[in-house]
Amino acid sequence: MSFKSIAIDGPAGAGKSTLARKLAEKLGYLYVDTGAIYRTVALKALWEKADPGDPAQVAPLLEGLELHMGYENGEQKMYLEGEDVSAAIRRHKVSGAASQISAIPEVRAFLLDFQRKLAREGNVVMDGRDIGTVVLPGADVKIFLTAAPEARARRRLRELEQRGEPADFDAILRDIRDRDWQDEHRPIAPLRQAADAVLLDTTDLDLGLSVSRLLALVKEKMAQ
Ligand code: C5P
Repeated sequence: MSFKSIAIDGPAGAGKSTLARKLAEKLGYLYVDTGAIYRTVALKALWEKADPGDPAQVAPLLEGLELHMGYENGEQKMYLEGEDVSAAIRRHKVSGAASQISAIPEVRAFLLDFQRKLAREGNVVMDGRDIGTVVLPGADVKIFLTAAPEARARRRLRELEQRGEPADFDAILRDIRDRDWQDEHRPIAPLRQAADAVLLDTTDLDLGLSVSRLLALVKEKMAQ
């Protein structure tokens, strides 16, 4: 039996995870947030006090790495050495480290198998940076989701304020631009739109409109 897969790629803060989750819910597919998997490897590097930018320090950590993914009430959970690290991987420090370790060839090769296996086992909506280009080049639908950096920074600021965390717009914008640059310029699997991906720019769309646009795009592609 062959399963369906939908690839959603794009830069940090474009709304990928929110939209991919909603899409998966509507279609009854499993939602896979691949950024969370990279973040978990980054957390391991931080636990071991390894430099996340140094392949010689990070690559050996992959051997025997106890990394697991599960679902609890429909929520994706990440486990590192048996510990639920789903909240810990969202920390600011882990975001930067994830961007660094994701440029290491050994890390990408290791996670490639992990991600492809998930898509072989069921229908998935998978979001990340290289799903349509590298991980699932044969995906049934590919979406490249983007938004202007300022719009992404505004959304992130609102999110942090709602959580009661102090935040500064300029610092967030700088961070977003830095991560974009790192993701777009790494030699392996850089962030880019696959030739056969549909572009969805959410700069001027609110969440409701983004979801309906995305659903319409997916239905149209699936019907072809
Ligand atoms: O999506 P999220 O911001 O959680 O991803 C964390 C980091 O993991 C990104 O900055 C990116 O460098 C990396 N990543 C990647 N390939 C993916 C998913 C995430 O390189 N498929």
